[in-house]
Amino acid sequence: MERTESERMVLRIPVDLTAERLGALCRVRPDSPAWETVEECLPYVNEYGSPGAVIRWADVERIDGDTVRVNGHVFHSLVLADKLKESRRVFLSVITAGTGLERCPELEGDPFFDTLRGALLAHATGWVTAFMKDRFGFDGRAMLNPGSLPDWPIVNNFALFDLIGNAEEIGVSLNRDGYMRPWHTTSHIHFSGGNYQNCSLCRRYDCVGRRAKFDRAEYVRIFGIEP
Ligand code: SF4
Repeated sequence: MERTESERMVLRIPVDLTAERLGALCRVRPDSPAWETVEECLPYVNEYGSPGAVIRWADVERIDGDTVRVNGHVFHSLVLADKLKESRRVFLSVITAGTGLERCPELEGDPFFDTLRGALLAHATGWVTAFMKDRFGFDGRAMLNPGSLPDWPIVNNFALFDLIGNAEEIGVSLNRDGYMRPWHTTSHIHFSGGNYQNCSLCRRYDCVGRRAKFDRAEYVRIFGIEP
């Protein structure tokens, strides 16, 4: 793995989507009545979209029970301990859709606006993981996010942001509870773990955004209790 690159990188993410790609990111099919909206919004998304990311290499220094030390900071999480046990190095990231779309007068008040920002975040996340792969040969598709499971709550964003450093460079800040601004911003620890998805351990069974089936056996193995 490349070790001479900067430990920390600020990434400005290009936006040059096709209608097909934007439609897929918005989960709108070409035969859907909403397809026309996708086509109408496409030039605005490409012109005003301003996603960005900060990524940083970090060392997994020690794992003991539910205790994980990363670059000198101690986290307590069973799922973190389990998923990082084979990792020596991980990527930390903050990825945001940015606020560029808010400067587009044609999209002001558009009911599709949130969907477009969500699409920009999904685009940015895919771009960042592709960048990790292309630049470093690191498969960072498996991610752990503070707040996505009760085992690693949102307050862990404070430590994660400290480790990453100055997310304000991409316009991201935390409120006093650890939630990120602007909306459609996410924070992660990326590890080499194939296709792990938080959804596989999440008990919000009826979530419309679910990307993986709930895995009861894995839940019991990691947390030692029935869901
Ligand atoms: S099931 Fe829904 S709430 Fe749970 S981790 Fe997945 S997307 Fe998030």
